[in-house]
Amino acid sequence: SEERALNFIEEIIEEDLAKGLNDGRVLTRFPPEPNGYLHIGHAKSICLNFGLAKKYNGKTNLRFDDTNPTKEETEYVDSIKEDVKWLGFEWEKELYASDYFEQLYNFAVKLIEKGLAYVDDSTSEEIAAQKGTPTIPGTPNQYRSRSVEENLQLFAEMRAGKYQDGDKVLRAKIDLSSPNMLLRDPLMYRIKHAHHHRTGEAWCIYPMYDFAHGQSDAIEKITHSICTLEFVPHRPLYDLFIKELEIFPSKQYEFARLNMTYTVMSKRKLMQLVADGHVESWDDPRMPTISGLRRRGYTPGSIREFCERIGVAKRDNMIDVSLLEFCIREDLNKTAWRRMAVLDPIKLIITNYPEDQTENLNGENNPEVEGGEGGRDIPFSRELWIEREDFMEEPPKKFFRLGVGLSVRLKHAYIVKCEDFKKDADGNVTEIYCTYIPESKSGSDTSGINVKGTIHWVSVPHAKTAEVRLYDRLFQVEDPSNEDGDFKEYLNPNSLQILPNAYIEPDLANAIPGKGYQFIRKGYFTLDKHSTTDKLIFNRTVGLKDGWTI
Ligand code: ATP
Ligand code: MG
Ligand code: MG
Repeated sequence: SEERALNFIEEIIEEDLAKGLNDGRVLTRFPPEPNGYLHIGHAKSICLNFGLAKKYNGKTNLRFDDTNPTKEETEYVDSIKEDVKWLGFEWEKELYASDYFEQLYNFAVKLIEKGLAYVDDSTSEEIAAQKGTPTIPGTPNQYRSRSVEENLQLFAEMRAGKYQDGDKVLRAKIDLSSPNMLLRDPLMYRIKHAHHHRTGEAWCIYPMYDFAHGQSDAIEKITHSICTLEFVPHRPLYDLFIKELEIFPSKQYEFARLNMTYTVMSKRKLMQLVADGHVESWDDPRMPTISGLRRRGYTPGSIREFCERIGVAKRDNMIDVSLLEFCIREDLNKTAWRRMAVLDPIKLIITNYPEDQTENLNGENNPEVEGGEGGRDIPFSRELWIEREDFMEEPPKKFFRLGVGLSVRLKHAYIVKCEDFKKDADGNVTEIYCTYIPESKSGSDTSGINVKGTIHWVSVPHAKTAEVRLYDRLFQVEDPSNEDGDFKEYLNPNSLQILPNAYIEPDLANAIPGKGYQFIRKGYFTLDKHSTTDKLIFNRTVGLKDGWTI
């Protein structure tokens, strides 16, 4: 990150620092609404906000933007904190917009007193109609000319619970003919008799985003308030409220939100997938949520690297999910321990290996690291499981695996030559017969024989079983939100493949939760959170190469 050019927000911060603005202070915030679990798009915002603070010796607040009581829950607050921490960031303060309700109320009173806000009794339909269109100016209604005294009294009564939901709203008195529709007397407060996850029943009026966000930034003295491009038209309002309230002049900057192929990136849509049972939960390993990626076997470092690589854009774009996969593959290639597992087993019998013999071979944990990070014993015996696809009855030329007359090396073990095979009544191959070359043992091979292929295996009497879950894209099209009809019509019906009976080498029974394992030739795997000693479950994080086929 030291060598790359500054992104446009870094340029702004460096200019501000050069000017001595804010006494050289940089304070950012990450402001999630606790109405769902965080996704990879939020990770982009987290890495940006916390990353900038880190780079410029600043700090970042975690502020829950909890101004909409009906959608927010403590479960989401907890998951958000866990995810931010897991990504490797520490916030300066944990704050809640709801803690500012009293202050925001007083700000609203101040605007009423300045003649800049009024209570409107119109319905939302009437208000929408009176707003006009971008080319037709809006029309003022009778409520717009209410006196300051009347507005103060009505607003106090709104707070006191005298009215029902929808009876009245508080609006800013700005400009009904502004070309920016958001400035045509936007709503500041609405009535909602609802339970709030923190303030309980204390309030029945709640501020709108535009009357909460900038004010919360100002209360915290945020220097650089970074949000996504949809908020560009909100910026004049952000600045106007701050100016009229004469509070700390936080500044808003906008960058392009992260969009990624073959998924959806909106809490509302992700919530539907959970509610309708298309996925198991918010942390289903197919979900683009941070908790889903974690369960799938992604590491915090791989997600941070992804966010760094995509950079900070000023125009909306679509990032190919294969970049995210590239980042985790690079990470796991360096850190994952190598193990052997047979996902689609067929039996191989070494006819010249003694029936009652077992030997313990050794395999290093990680060939990418000097010293291999230690190793493990791998029991070897006369009967082995190998992958069905590593044998062919009629192998084509250049098939460097098994077929009658062909030889391969068994990883960490011996060279074997296929002599024969057996089929059942339906014509399925059930057993493969080989002979081994005793002098060809890995590490002390004196056979002088060279073979092109190496295959993985697991000793039949020593194998443990595991359920292995393979994942594919959640959606069949690149941008499901941009297709005709409902986005859920584009779900990939084969996004999860469960292999209930894979055979794994015995050491994998000691697999460490959260650690990545490379199943040789099969990809990177990690224990699922539901895995137990009685029933081991592994999730495939990603395949070894680009591409989606097994
Ligand atoms: P969603 O539409 O998924 O609910 P949101 O913007 O409503 O997203 P918030 O909880 O308000 O979700 O988001 C917290 C912060 O994360 C905001 O600053 C928001 O701009 C940012 N953010 C949300 N989605 C993305 C994304 N796809 N890319 C980058 N930043 C994002
Ligand atoms: Mg939001
Ligand atoms: Mg939202």
